[in-house]
Amino acid sequence: MSAQMNKNSSNIMALAPNTSNKRETVCIFGTGDFGRALGYKMIQSGYPVVFGSRSTQASSLIPKDAEVLSHAEAAQKAAIIIIAIQRQHYNFLTPLAEVLHGKVLVDVSNNLKINQYPESNAEYLAQLVPGAKVVKAFNTVSAWALQSGTLDASRQVFVCGDDMEAKQMVMDIVRALGLTPLDQGSLLAAQEIENYPLKLFPMWKFPILLSLGLSAFFFFYCLARDVIYPYVYENKDFSFFIAISIPNRICPILALILLALVYLPGVLAAIIQLYRGTKYRRFPDWLDKWMLCRKQLGLVALAFASLHVLYTLVIPIRSFVRWRLSGRIISQALNNKTEPLNTTNAWLSDSYLALGILGFFLFALLGITSLPSVSNNVNWREFRFVQSKLGYLTLILCTAHTLVYGGNRFLSPSSYRWYLPNAYMLCLIVPCIVLVVKFVLIFPCLDKPLTRIRQGWERNPQYSEQSNYIINKTAV
Ligand code: NAP
Repeated sequence: MSAQMNKNSSNIMALAPNTSNKRETVCIFGTGDFGRALGYKMIQSGYPVVFGSRSTQASSLIPKDAEVLSHAEAAQKAAIIIIAIQRQHYNFLTPLAEVLHGKVLVDVSNNLKINQYPESNAEYLAQLVPGAKVVKAFNTVSAWALQSGTLDASRQVFVCGDDMEAKQMVMDIVRALGLTPLDQGSLLAAQEIENYPLKLFPMWKFPILLSLGLSAFFFFYCLARDVIYPYVYENKDFSFFIAISIPNRICPILALILLALVYLPGVLAAIIQLYRGTKYRRFPDWLDKWMLCRKQLGLVALAFASLHVLYTLVIPIRSFVRWRLSGRIISQALNNKTEPLNTTNAWLSDSYLALGILGFFLFALLGITSLPSVSNNVNWREFRFVQSKLGYLTLILCTAHTLVYGGNRFLSPSSYRWYLPNAYMLCLIVPCIVLVVKFVLIFPCLDKPLTRIRQGWERNPQYSEQSNYIINKTAV
Protein backbone atom coordinates (compact mmCIF):
# COMPACT_ATOMS: atom_id res chain seq x y z
CA MET A 1 0.00 0.00 0.00
CA SER A 2 2.69 2.46 1.08
CA ALA A 3 4.83 1.37 -1.87
CA GLN A 4 1.88 2.12 -4.13
CA MET A 5 1.45 5.52 -2.45
CA ASN A 6 5.12 6.29 -2.88
CA LYS A 7 4.90 5.33 -6.52
CA ASN A 8 1.85 7.53 -7.03
CA SER A 9 3.35 10.46 -5.23
CA SER A 10 6.55 10.19 -7.25
CA ASN A 11 4.45 10.32 -10.42
CA ILE A 12 2.56 13.34 -9.16
CA MET A 13 5.78 15.04 -8.14
CA ALA A 14 7.26 14.29 -11.51
CA LEU A 15 4.47 16.19 -13.24
CA ALA A 16 5.90 19.43 -11.95
CA PRO A 17 9.35 20.51 -13.12
CA ASN A 18 12.17 19.65 -10.78
CA THR A 19 12.50 22.93 -8.94
CA SER A 20 15.29 21.97 -6.55
CA ASN A 21 18.61 23.69 -7.26
CA LYS A 22 20.59 20.46 -7.19
CA ARG A 23 20.07 18.52 -10.38
CA GLU A 24 20.88 14.86 -10.92
CA THR A 25 23.96 14.00 -12.98
CA VAL A 26 23.14 13.06 -16.57
CA CYS A 27 25.36 10.75 -18.60
CA ILE A 28 25.70 11.15 -22.35
CA PHE A 29 27.17 8.35 -24.45
CA GLY A 30 28.90 9.78 -27.52
CA THR A 31 30.79 13.04 -27.91
CA GLY A 32 29.53 13.71 -31.44
CA ASP A 33 27.63 16.79 -32.60
CA PHE A 34 24.39 15.93 -30.88
CA GLY A 35 25.90 14.63 -27.64
CA ARG A 36 28.01 17.80 -27.26
CA ALA A 37 25.12 20.14 -28.11
CA LEU A 38 22.86 18.42 -25.58
CA GLY A 39 25.71 18.45 -23.05
CA TYR A 40 26.17 22.24 -23.41
CA LYS A 41 22.45 22.86 -23.02
CA MET A 42 22.26 20.61 -19.93
CA ILE A 43 25.24 22.26 -18.26
CA GLN A 44 23.63 25.66 -18.93
CA SER A 45 20.46 24.36 -17.25
CA GLY A 46 22.40 23.27 -14.17
CA TYR A 47 22.83 19.54 -14.79
CA PRO A 48 26.22 17.96 -14.01
CA VAL A 49 27.16 16.12 -17.22
CA VAL A 50 29.45 13.14 -17.67
CA PHE A 51 30.28 11.85 -21.14
CA GLY A 52 30.85 8.18 -21.89
CA SER A 53 33.23 7.91 -24.83
CA ARG A 54 35.56 5.53 -26.63
CA SER A 55 38.35 8.03 -26.01
CA THR A 56 38.70 9.64 -22.59
CA GLN A 57 41.25 12.20 -23.78
CA ALA A 58 40.17 15.79 -23.17
CA SER A 59 39.14 17.68 -26.28
CA SER A 60 38.56 21.41 -26.70
CA LEU A 61 35.21 20.64 -28.37
CA ILE A 62 33.76 19.04 -25.24
CA PRO A 63 32.12 21.42 -22.72
CA LYS A 64 34.81 22.22 -20.17
CA ASP A 65 32.58 21.58 -17.13
CA ALA A 66 31.86 18.03 -18.28
CA GLU A 67 33.81 14.91 -17.37
CA VAL A 68 34.79 12.39 -20.04
CA LEU A 69 35.05 8.77 -18.89
CA SER A 70 34.80 5.30 -20.35
CA HIS A 71 31.25 4.12 -21.05
CA ALA A 72 31.12 1.80 -18.02
CA GLU A 73 32.53 4.41 -15.61
CA ALA A 74 30.26 7.17 -16.90
CA ALA A 75 27.15 4.96 -16.72
CA GLN A 76 27.78 4.31 -13.03
CA LYS A 77 27.60 8.02 -12.24
CA ALA A 78 24.04 8.65 -13.48
CA ALA A 79 20.55 7.19 -13.46
CA ILE A 80 19.78 8.63 -16.89
CA ILE A 81 21.97 7.87 -19.88
CA ILE A 82 21.41 9.57 -23.21
CA ILE A 83 22.57 7.41 -26.10
CA ALA A 84 23.81 10.02 -28.62
CA ILE A 85 25.15 7.39 -31.00
CA GLN A 86 23.91 6.09 -34.36
CA ARG A 87 21.80 2.92 -34.17
CA GLN A 88 24.27 0.82 -36.20
CA HIS A 89 26.83 1.14 -33.33
CA TYR A 90 24.42 0.07 -30.54
CA ASN A 91 26.09 -3.38 -30.35
CA PHE A 92 28.77 -1.98 -28.04
CA LEU A 93 26.03 -1.67 -25.37
CA THR A 94 25.54 -5.44 -25.04
CA PRO A 95 28.66 -6.04 -22.87
CA LEU A 96 27.55 -3.09 -20.71
CA ALA A 97 24.14 -4.70 -20.00
CA GLU A 98 24.99 -5.31 -16.34
CA VAL A 99 26.02 -1.75 -15.57
CA LEU A 100 23.04 -0.41 -17.54
CA HIS A 101 20.55 -2.58 -15.60
CA GLY A 102 17.74 -0.44 -14.13
CA LYS A 103 19.03 2.75 -15.79
CA VAL A 104 16.93 5.04 -17.94
CA LEU A 105 18.30 4.94 -21.50
CA VAL A 106 17.21 7.82 -23.71
CA ASP A 107 17.19 6.98 -27.40
CA VAL A 108 17.66 10.16 -29.47
CA SER A 109 18.45 8.48 -32.77
CA ASN A 110 17.02 9.12 -36.22
CA ASN A 111 17.18 7.08 -39.42
CA LEU A 112 17.95 7.99 -43.00
CA LYS A 113 14.74 6.53 -44.43
CA ILE A 114 11.14 6.18 -43.27
CA ASN A 115 10.57 2.71 -41.69
CA GLN A 116 14.22 1.84 -42.40
CA TYR A 117 14.20 -1.05 -39.92
CA PRO A 118 11.41 -3.47 -39.00
CA GLU A 119 11.39 -2.15 -35.42
CA SER A 120 12.06 1.35 -34.12
CA ASN A 121 15.57 2.19 -32.88
CA ALA A 122 14.20 2.62 -29.36
CA GLU A 123 12.60 -0.87 -29.42
CA TYR A 124 15.87 -2.28 -30.78
CA LEU A 125 17.72 -0.62 -27.89
CA ALA A 126 15.21 -2.12 -25.43
CA GLN A 127 15.87 -5.58 -26.93
CA LEU A 128 19.66 -5.13 -26.66
CA VAL A 129 19.54 -3.98 -23.02
CA PRO A 130 16.44 -5.69 -21.59
CA GLY A 131 17.17 -4.62 -18.01
CA ALA A 132 17.05 -0.89 -18.87
CA LYS A 133 14.07 1.46 -19.12
CA VAL A 134 14.14 2.90 -22.61
CA VAL A 135 12.59 6.29 -23.39
CA LYS A 136 12.49 7.91 -26.83
CA ALA A 137 13.05 11.68 -26.85
CA PHE A 138 14.91 14.63 -28.41
CA ASN A 139 15.15 13.16 -31.94
CA THR A 140 13.11 16.00 -33.49
CA VAL A 141 15.50 18.66 -32.13
CA SER A 142 18.63 19.39 -34.13
CA ALA A 143 22.10 19.77 -32.67
CA TRP A 144 22.44 23.13 -34.41
CA ALA A 145 19.18 24.47 -32.95
CA LEU A 146 20.18 23.27 -29.47
CA GLN A 147 23.52 25.02 -29.62
CA SER A 148 22.43 28.22 -31.35
CA GLY A 149 19.28 28.55 -29.21
CA THR A 150 17.07 28.96 -32.30
CA LEU A 151 14.43 26.60 -31.05
CA ASP A 152 11.41 28.81 -31.61
CA ALA A 153 9.78 26.59 -34.20
CA SER A 154 10.74 23.27 -32.63
CA ARG A 155 10.25 23.62 -28.90
CA GLN A 156 8.13 20.50 -28.79
CA VAL A 157 9.89 17.27 -27.86
CA PHE A 158 7.97 14.04 -28.45
CA VAL A 159 8.55 11.57 -25.61
CA CYS A 160 7.43 7.95 -25.38
CA GLY A 161 8.30 4.95 -23.24
CA ASP A 162 6.81 2.00 -21.39
CA ASP A 163 8.01 3.00 -17.91
CA MET A 164 5.96 5.94 -16.61
CA GLU A 165 8.52 7.00 -14.00
CA ALA A 166 11.40 6.92 -16.47
CA LYS A 167 9.32 8.92 -18.95
CA GLN A 168 8.50 11.55 -16.31
CA MET A 169 12.21 11.86 -15.42
CA VAL A 170 13.06 12.55 -19.07
CA MET A 171 10.13 14.96 -19.41
CA ASP A 172 11.46 16.90 -16.39
CA ILE A 173 14.82 17.28 -18.14
CA VAL A 174 13.06 18.42 -21.32
CA ARG A 175 11.19 21.10 -19.35
CA ALA A 176 14.35 22.17 -17.53
CA LEU A 177 16.00 22.80 -20.92
CA GLY A 178 13.17 25.20 -21.76
CA LEU A 179 11.45 22.79 -24.16
CA THR A 180 7.93 21.37 -24.16
CA PRO A 181 7.57 17.60 -23.72
CA LEU A 182 4.66 15.93 -25.53
CA ASP A 183 3.85 12.50 -24.13
CA GLN A 184 3.16 10.20 -27.09
CA GLY A 185 2.46 7.08 -25.03
CA SER A 186 4.29 3.74 -24.99
CA LEU A 187 7.43 2.73 -26.89
CA LEU A 188 5.16 1.57 -29.73
CA ALA A 189 4.93 5.23 -30.74
CA ALA A 190 8.72 5.39 -31.28
CA GLN A 191 8.55 4.38 -34.97
CA GLU A 192 6.17 7.24 -35.73
CA ILE A 193 8.37 9.68 -33.76
CA GLU A 194 11.44 8.47 -35.67
CA ASN A 195 9.66 8.90 -39.01
CA TYR A 196 8.51 12.41 -38.13
CA PRO A 197 11.75 14.31 -38.95
CA LEU A 198 11.99 12.44 -42.28
CA LYS A 199 8.64 13.59 -43.61
CA LEU A 200 8.90 16.21 -46.31
CA PHE A 201 5.87 18.53 -46.22
CA PRO A 202 3.40 15.58 -46.34
CA MET A 203 0.33 17.84 -46.57
CA TRP A 204 1.87 19.95 -49.33
CA LYS A 205 2.58 17.12 -51.76
CA PHE A 206 -0.89 17.00 -53.38
CA PRO A 207 -1.37 20.82 -53.68
CA ILE A 208 2.11 21.29 -55.11
CA LEU A 209 1.91 18.40 -57.59
CA LEU A 210 -1.56 19.51 -58.64
CA SER A 211 -0.47 23.11 -59.18
CA LEU A 212 2.61 21.97 -61.12
CA GLY A 213 0.43 19.80 -63.36
CA LEU A 214 -2.16 22.53 -63.91
CA SER A 215 0.57 25.16 -64.53
CA ALA A 216 2.17 22.94 -67.19
CA PHE A 217 -1.22 22.30 -68.85
CA PHE A 218 -2.24 25.97 -68.96
CA PHE A 219 1.25 27.07 -70.03
CA PHE A 220 1.11 24.90 -73.16
CA TYR A 221 -2.52 25.80 -73.72
CA CYS A 222 -1.76 29.55 -73.67
CA LEU A 223 1.42 29.01 -75.68
CA ALA A 224 -0.58 27.32 -78.44
CA ARG A 225 -3.33 29.95 -78.48
CA ASP A 226 -1.38 33.15 -77.86
CA VAL A 227 2.05 32.50 -79.40
CA ILE A 228 1.93 29.64 -81.92
CA TYR A 229 -1.47 30.53 -83.46
CA PRO A 230 -0.55 34.18 -84.34
CA TYR A 231 2.83 32.96 -85.62
CA VAL A 232 1.24 30.35 -87.91
CA TYR A 233 -1.71 32.40 -89.23
CA GLU A 234 -0.50 36.02 -88.96
CA ASN A 235 3.26 35.55 -89.00
CA LYS A 236 3.53 37.60 -85.78
CA ASP A 237 6.19 36.86 -83.19
CA PHE A 238 4.63 37.10 -79.73
CA SER A 239 7.17 34.77 -78.09
CA PHE A 240 7.91 37.47 -75.48
CA PHE A 241 4.44 36.68 -74.01
CA ILE A 242 6.22 33.82 -72.24
CA ALA A 243 7.82 36.29 -69.82
CA ILE A 244 4.81 38.17 -68.43
CA SER A 245 1.56 37.70 -70.37
CA ILE A 246 1.34 33.92 -70.08
CA PRO A 247 2.40 33.75 -66.41
CA ASN A 248 -0.11 36.50 -65.69
CA ARG A 249 -2.78 34.28 -67.23
CA ILE A 250 -1.70 31.10 -65.48
CA CYS A 251 -1.50 32.69 -62.00
CA PRO A 252 -5.11 33.93 -61.71
CA ILE A 253 -6.37 30.76 -63.40
CA LEU A 254 -4.60 28.56 -60.86
CA ALA A 255 -5.57 30.81 -57.94
CA LEU A 256 -9.25 30.49 -58.88
CA ILE A 257 -9.21 26.75 -59.61
CA LEU A 258 -7.29 25.94 -56.40
CA LEU A 259 -9.59 28.17 -54.34
CA ALA A 260 -12.59 26.34 -55.80
CA LEU A 261 -10.88 23.02 -55.00
CA VAL A 262 -10.70 24.11 -51.34
CA TYR A 263 -14.51 24.22 -51.24
CA LEU A 264 -15.33 21.36 -53.62
CA PRO A 265 -14.64 18.52 -51.10
CA GLY A 266 -17.01 20.15 -48.57
CA VAL A 267 -19.74 20.22 -51.21
CA LEU A 268 -19.04 16.60 -52.19
CA ALA A 269 -19.09 15.56 -48.54
CA ALA A 270 -22.51 17.24 -48.12
CA ILE A 271 -23.88 15.39 -51.16
CA ILE A 272 -22.51 12.05 -49.85
CA GLN A 273 -24.03 12.64 -46.40
CA LEU A 274 -27.39 13.58 -47.91
CA TYR A 275 -27.33 10.51 -50.12
CA ARG A 276 -26.37 8.15 -47.29
CA GLY A 277 -28.62 9.87 -44.76
CA THR A 278 -25.97 9.58 -42.04
CA LYS A 279 -22.68 11.10 -40.99
CA TYR A 280 -21.55 7.91 -39.29
CA ARG A 281 -20.07 6.28 -42.37
CA ARG A 282 -16.54 7.10 -43.43
CA PHE A 283 -15.88 9.17 -46.52
CA PRO A 284 -13.77 7.55 -49.25
CA ASP A 285 -10.04 7.82 -48.50
CA TRP A 286 -9.36 10.22 -51.36
CA LEU A 287 -11.97 12.64 -50.01
CA ASP A 288 -10.55 12.41 -46.48
CA LYS A 289 -7.05 13.18 -47.78
CA TRP A 290 -8.34 16.01 -49.94
CA MET A 291 -10.16 17.57 -46.94
CA LEU A 292 -6.98 17.36 -44.85
CA CYS A 293 -4.95 19.44 -47.31
CA ARG A 294 -7.51 22.20 -47.93
CA LYS A 295 -5.46 24.74 -45.96
CA GLN A 296 -2.38 24.03 -48.08
CA LEU A 297 -4.45 24.23 -51.30
CA GLY A 298 -5.75 27.62 -50.15
CA LEU A 299 -2.26 28.90 -49.34
CA VAL A 300 -0.90 27.81 -52.74
CA ALA A 301 -3.91 29.55 -54.34
CA LEU A 302 -3.08 32.70 -52.36
CA ALA A 303 0.53 32.55 -53.58
CA PHE A 304 -0.70 32.45 -57.21
CA ALA A 305 -3.13 35.32 -56.54
CA SER A 306 -0.29 37.41 -55.04
CA LEU A 307 1.87 36.73 -58.10
CA HIS A 308 -1.04 37.82 -60.31
CA VAL A 309 -1.20 41.11 -58.38
CA LEU A 310 2.54 41.68 -58.87
CA TYR A 311 2.41 40.84 -62.59
CA THR A 312 -0.57 43.18 -63.02
CA LEU A 313 1.27 46.05 -61.38
CA VAL A 314 3.98 46.04 -64.09
CA ILE A 315 1.53 46.06 -67.01
CA PRO A 316 1.68 49.87 -67.57
CA ILE A 317 5.50 49.86 -67.90
CA ARG A 318 5.63 46.99 -70.41
CA SER A 319 7.06 48.06 -73.74
CA PHE A 320 4.40 46.10 -75.69
CA VAL A 321 1.57 47.81 -73.79
CA ARG A 322 3.11 51.28 -74.27
CA TRP A 323 3.64 50.56 -78.00
CA ARG A 324 0.01 49.50 -78.42
CA LEU A 325 -1.31 52.55 -76.54
CA SER A 326 0.82 55.02 -78.47
CA GLY A 327 -0.23 53.27 -81.73
CA ARG A 328 -3.88 53.91 -80.92
CA ILE A 329 -3.27 57.56 -80.04
CA ILE A 330 -1.25 58.13 -83.24
CA SER A 331 -3.93 56.49 -85.38
CA GLN A 332 -6.58 58.71 -83.79
CA ALA A 333 -4.38 61.76 -84.44
CA LEU A 334 -3.70 60.74 -88.07
CA ASN A 335 -7.40 60.13 -88.70
CA ASN A 336 -8.24 63.32 -86.80
CA LYS A 337 -10.90 61.42 -84.96
CA THR A 338 -11.25 60.97 -81.18
CA GLU A 339 -12.81 57.75 -79.98
CA PRO A 340 -15.75 58.54 -77.67
CA LEU A 341 -15.70 57.13 -74.16
CA ASN A 342 -17.45 53.77 -74.10
CA THR A 343 -19.27 53.84 -70.75
CA THR A 344 -20.15 50.15 -70.90
CA ASN A 345 -16.50 49.25 -71.29
CA ALA A 346 -15.53 51.71 -68.55
CA TRP A 347 -18.08 50.07 -66.22
CA LEU A 348 -16.86 46.60 -67.10
CA SER A 349 -13.22 47.54 -66.60
CA ASP A 350 -13.84 49.32 -63.27
CA SER A 351 -16.06 46.52 -61.94
CA TYR A 352 -13.48 43.95 -63.03
CA LEU A 353 -10.76 45.80 -61.11
CA ALA A 354 -12.96 46.44 -58.04
CA LEU A 355 -13.97 42.76 -57.83
CA GLY A 356 -10.33 41.74 -58.17
CA ILE A 357 -9.20 44.12 -55.41
CA LEU A 358 -11.95 43.02 -53.01
CA GLY A 359 -11.43 39.35 -53.89
CA PHE A 360 -7.71 39.59 -53.22
CA PHE A 361 -8.27 41.46 -49.95
CA LEU A 362 -10.55 38.69 -48.65
CA PHE A 363 -8.18 36.06 -50.03
CA ALA A 364 -5.32 37.60 -48.00
CA LEU A 365 -7.59 37.72 -44.93
CA LEU A 366 -8.34 34.01 -45.34
CA GLY A 367 -4.61 33.28 -45.59
CA ILE A 368 -3.85 35.29 -42.45
CA THR A 369 -6.58 33.56 -40.42
CA SER A 370 -5.22 30.16 -41.38
CA LEU A 371 -1.89 30.97 -39.64
CA PRO A 372 -1.70 29.04 -36.34
CA SER A 373 -0.88 32.21 -34.36
CA VAL A 374 -4.15 33.80 -35.57
CA SER A 375 -6.39 30.72 -35.70
CA ASN A 376 -5.37 29.86 -32.10
CA ASN A 377 -6.82 33.19 -31.00
CA VAL A 378 -10.30 32.73 -32.46
CA ASN A 379 -12.93 30.27 -31.33
CA TRP A 380 -14.25 27.46 -33.52
CA ARG A 381 -17.33 29.44 -34.63
CA GLU A 382 -15.26 32.49 -35.59
CA PHE A 383 -12.80 30.30 -37.49
CA ARG A 384 -15.63 28.58 -39.37
CA PHE A 385 -17.24 31.93 -40.13
CA VAL A 386 -14.03 33.25 -41.71
CA GLN A 387 -13.06 30.06 -43.52
CA SER A 388 -16.54 29.16 -44.74
CA LYS A 389 -18.63 32.34 -45.15
CA LEU A 390 -15.79 34.70 -46.06
CA GLY A 391 -14.22 31.91 -48.10
CA TYR A 392 -17.33 31.52 -50.25
CA LEU A 393 -17.58 35.30 -50.58
CA THR A 394 -13.98 35.33 -51.81
CA LEU A 395 -14.80 32.59 -54.32
CA ILE A 396 -17.84 34.54 -55.54
CA LEU A 397 -15.83 37.77 -55.93
CA CYS A 398 -12.93 36.06 -57.72
CA THR A 399 -15.31 34.16 -60.04
CA ALA A 400 -17.18 37.38 -60.78
CA HIS A 401 -13.83 39.12 -61.43
CA THR A 402 -13.06 36.50 -64.10
CA LEU A 403 -16.58 36.56 -65.57
CA VAL A 404 -16.48 40.35 -65.92
CA TYR A 405 -13.00 40.11 -67.45
CA GLY A 406 -14.54 37.88 -70.13
CA GLY A 407 -17.35 40.40 -70.58
CA ASN A 408 -18.90 40.12 -74.01
CA ARG A 409 -15.95 38.14 -75.40
CA PHE A 410 -17.43 34.81 -74.31
CA LEU A 411 -19.55 34.44 -77.40
CA SER A 412 -17.27 36.22 -79.87
CA PRO A 413 -15.95 33.72 -82.48
CA SER A 414 -12.61 35.60 -82.67
CA SER A 415 -11.81 34.54 -79.09
CA TYR A 416 -11.77 30.88 -80.18
CA ARG A 417 -8.47 29.88 -81.80
CA TRP A 418 -8.24 26.37 -83.18
CA TYR A 419 -11.68 25.97 -81.58
CA LEU A 420 -9.98 26.46 -78.23
CA PRO A 421 -11.69 28.89 -75.85
CA ASN A 422 -9.68 31.40 -73.85
CA ALA A 423 -7.94 29.77 -70.88
CA TYR A 424 -9.88 31.88 -68.37
CA MET A 425 -13.11 30.31 -69.67
CA LEU A 426 -11.81 26.85 -68.77
CA CYS A 427 -10.86 27.98 -65.28
CA LEU A 428 -14.44 29.06 -64.59
CA ILE A 429 -15.77 25.50 -64.83
CA VAL A 430 -14.82 24.26 -61.33
CA PRO A 431 -15.71 27.45 -59.39
CA CYS A 432 -19.06 27.73 -61.17
CA ILE A 433 -19.89 24.10 -60.38
CA VAL A 434 -18.96 24.63 -56.69
CA LEU A 435 -21.01 27.83 -56.41
CA VAL A 436 -24.06 26.40 -58.17
CA VAL A 437 -24.08 23.21 -56.07
CA LYS A 438 -23.52 25.23 -52.88
CA PHE A 439 -26.41 27.48 -53.88
CA VAL A 440 -28.65 24.46 -54.37
CA LEU A 441 -27.56 23.04 -51.00
CA ILE A 442 -28.70 26.23 -49.26
CA PHE A 443 -32.34 25.50 -50.16
CA PRO A 444 -34.20 24.54 -46.95
CA CYS A 445 -35.38 21.20 -48.39
CA LEU A 446 -31.69 20.14 -48.52
CA ASP A 447 -30.15 22.36 -45.86
CA LYS A 448 -32.49 21.19 -43.06
CA PRO A 449 -31.89 17.43 -43.47
CA LEU A 450 -28.15 18.09 -43.92
CA THR A 451 -28.02 20.10 -40.68
CA ARG A 452 -29.91 17.32 -38.87
CA ILE A 453 -27.55 14.68 -40.30
CA ARG A 454 -24.57 16.71 -39.10
CA GLN A 455 -26.17 16.88 -35.66
CA GLY A 456 -26.31 13.07 -35.54
CA TRP A 457 -29.74 12.26 -37.05
CA GLU A 458 -29.85 9.14 -39.29
CA ARG A 459 -32.36 8.27 -42.01
CA ASN A 460 -31.98 4.53 -41.33
CA PRO A 461 -30.76 4.38 -37.73
CA GLN A 462 -29.35 0.83 -37.55
CA TYR A 463 -27.86 1.15 -34.05
CA SER A 464 -30.89 2.73 -32.41
CA GLU A 465 -33.12 0.09 -34.07
CA GLN A 466 -30.99 -2.58 -32.45
CA SER A 467 -31.11 -0.83 -29.09
CA ASN A 468 -34.90 -0.34 -29.43
CA TYR A 469 -35.15 -4.08 -30.12
CA ILE A 470 -33.10 -4.87 -27.03
CA ILE A 471 -35.17 -2.43 -24.92
CA ASN A 472 -38.44 -3.95 -26.25
CA LYS A 473 -37.20 -7.49 -25.66
CA THR A 474 -36.18 -6.67 -22.08
CA ALA A 475 -39.60 -5.09 -21.49
CA VAL A 476 -41.32 -8.25 -22.76
P1 NAP B 1 28.02 11.78 -34.76
O1 NAP B 1 28.51 13.18 -34.84
O2 NAP B 1 28.37 10.84 -35.83
O3 NAP B 1 28.49 11.22 -33.35
C1 NAP B 1 28.19 9.97 -32.91
C2 NAP B 1 29.14 9.58 -31.78
O4 NAP B 1 28.95 8.21 -31.58
C3 NAP B 1 30.60 9.73 -32.12
O5 NAP B 1 31.05 11.03 -31.85
C4 NAP B 1 31.25 8.70 -31.21
O6 NAP B 1 31.47 9.25 -29.90
C5 NAP B 1 30.16 7.66 -31.06
N1 NAP B 1 30.50 6.46 -31.86
C6 NAP B 1 30.79 6.42 -33.18
N2 NAP B 1 31.04 5.15 -33.56
C7 NAP B 1 30.93 4.37 -32.44
C8 NAP B 1 31.05 3.00 -32.18
N3 NAP B 1 31.39 2.12 -33.15
N4 NAP B 1 30.87 2.58 -30.95
C9 NAP B 1 30.54 3.43 -29.96
N5 NAP B 1 30.42 4.76 -30.12
C10 NAP B 1 30.58 5.23 -31.36
O7 NAP B 1 26.44 11.76 -34.67
P2 NAP B 1 25.49 12.86 -34.04
O8 NAP B 1 25.11 13.82 -35.09
O9 NAP B 1 26.05 13.38 -32.77
O10 NAP B 1 24.18 12.01 -33.74
C11 NAP B 1 24.15 11.11 -32.64
C12 NAP B 1 22.73 10.55 -32.53
O11 NAP B 1 21.82 11.63 -32.33
C13 NAP B 1 22.29 9.83 -33.80
O12 NAP B 1 21.57 8.69 -33.46
C14 NAP B 1 21.39 10.83 -34.47
O13 NAP B 1 20.40 10.22 -35.25
C15 NAP B 1 20.78 11.56 -33.29
N6 NAP B 1 20.35 12.95 -33.61
C16 NAP B 1 21.22 13.82 -34.16
C17 NAP B 1 20.80 15.11 -34.44
C18 NAP B 1 21.75 16.12 -35.01
O14 NAP B 1 21.32 17.25 -35.28
N7 NAP B 1 22.99 15.80 -35.22
C19 NAP B 1 19.49 15.48 -34.16
C20 NAP B 1 18.63 14.57 -33.58
C21 NAP B 1 19.07 13.29 -33.30
P3 NAP B 1 32.85 8.94 -29.12
O15 NAP B 1 33.96 9.21 -30.08
O16 NAP B 1 32.80 9.87 -27.98
O17 NAP B 1 32.78 7.51 -28.71
